[in-house]
Amino acid sequence: MKTMTTDIVVIGGGPGGTPLAMGAAKAGRQVVLVEAGAGLGGTCLFHGCIPSKIFRESAMLRYRLERARRFGIGGVGDRPTVDWATVERRKRTILSGRSDAALAKARTLPSLTVRFGSARFLDPHRIVIEGADGADELRFEKAVIATGSVSRKLNVPGSELPGILSSEELLSVERVPSSMVVIGGGPIGVEMAQIFSLLGTKVTILEALPSILGPVDRSLARRLGEILVRDGIPVHTGVKVERIEAAGDLRRVQYSSGGRTESLEAELVLAVVGRSPNVEGLGLEKTAVQFDAKGVKVDARLKTAEPHIWAAGDVVGQPMFAHWATAQAQALAAHLLDRPAVFPRAEHNSAVIFSHPELGMAGLTEEGARERGWDVEVAEYSYASDARAQIADEAEGLLRIVYRSDNATIVGVHALVEGAADLMGEAALAVATGAKLGDFARAIHPHPTLTESFGICASAALGGRK
Ligand SMILES: Cc1cc2nc3c(=O)[nH]c(=O)nc-3n(C[C@H](O)[C@H](O)[C@H](O)COP(=O)(O)OP(=O)(O)OC[C@H]3O[C@@H](n4cnc5c(N)ncnc54)[C@H](O)[C@@H]3O)c2cc1C
Repeated sequence: MKTMTTDIVVIGGGPGGTPLAMGAAKAGRQVVLVEAGAGLGGTCLFHGCIPSKIFRESAMLRYRLERARRFGIGGVGDRPTVDWATVERRKRTILSGRSDAALAKARTLPSLTVRFGSARFLDPHRIVIEGADGADELRFEKAVIATGSVSRKLNVPGSELPGILSSEELLSVERVPSSMVVIGGGPIGVEMAQIFSLLGTKVTILEALPSILGPVDRSLARRLGEILVRDGIPVHTGVKVERIEAAGDLRRVQYSSGGRTESLEAELVLAVVGRSPNVEGLGLEKTAVQFDAKGVKVDARLKTAEPHIWAAGDVVGQPMFAHWATAQAQALAAHLLDRPAVFPRAEHNSAVIFSHPELGMAGLTEEGARERGWDVEVAEYSYASDARAQIADEAEGLLRIVYRSDNATIVGVHALVEGAADLMGEAALAVATGAKLGDFARAIHPHPTLTESFGICASAALGGRK
């Protein structure tokens, strides 16, 4: 076994670890980035954000083609077919292209070494890297744990049967299933349910809590729930999945609901019941690093209980988003380089659920702001009358701007409308910079775009004043 030394070792080459390692190496520090998978990109690139949105793009194109006649376009059948092999090939090309590009960029940095293999702590200053070419020992000054998260297992009898998939497995299916039960009505469950429904799968959602999409703006989550049901995706909330069994080629999911036992049969079952920090096999017991089921315990500057070991991204717990992991990583890179570092604040985060219509959020919900003791009001705008939404034949949904009653500072922006994903840039900027309703009202938004909704909504709330 070879023994190497480095200033900084970063464990995990996802949206947390990769920019962190590159940032530190650009400043000339000796950095080793260790990645257990076959390429750089992490869950986001290989099993998360990117493949799911590639599938969504095909699903949305099929949806639009089905409606082509409404736009005066003929020559497209009522049920456009799906060539899954092409969808898969397109996915693989994008994934490998992005991963190769990240690796090529990393290799331009002379003080960065990328090692493929699995890292495990031997003691607080040494790890072993086990790769295809054997094991090496690495002694380091500082370490960053960025090992991400893994799908939480569904813990009911029968959940180990074939055909019970995690989101990672669903993103590698060989064909579009004819039917699917989705257990878990969180963001991933809702996205997958709609994507596969639009691709032709008969989908049902089972959710244990009284409502889907937990921490999302309540009225928008409710509205999206109604849209799911209207569009042919039954949603059963407040249910407890009891067991899963084989029923010929199908899987039968048995669940209790309001004291009754019900069951559903489907070709596949997708179990998306949350994600857990990925700490197994990392040898953290050889260090003083503390963790629990929510994640590795860190302080406000992401330092663990070991003064020379930090952690970032999904492994430290919620919120679990790629852009959040990257924002933490960039701040941590600056901090490790003794430069001024601005660590991201949860109340400034933004996110998108790529449902149809998309649900975007930036900052706090009305409920979240009130929990902080803030006196807030909400300005609303309906996309039913929006020019851009009408042109796209997507004229439904709602914008909700949460602002402080005392000074009209915008603390949250929530939009349910197809296109909300690209609205969230302006929303995130407004929240992060403490913009006021008057700023939205004064900004000259281009017509006809969905961004106009910010100005119209804010002006109406100000009674026409700017
Ligand atoms: C289905 C799905 C859809 C998603 N969609 C979105 C989305 O649209 N937008 C969004 O912002 N987020 C999305 N996410 C979340 C996003 O993928 C994660 O928040 C993000 O990947 C976290 O980045 P990370 O760097 O912390 O961890 P990861 O991306 O998980 O990277 C961790 C890396 O560490 C490596 N690793 C683990 N253990 C070891 C070890 N012992 N040694 C060496 N390497 C190790 C892993 O192989 C992995 O590459 C989605 C997630 C899923 C599952």
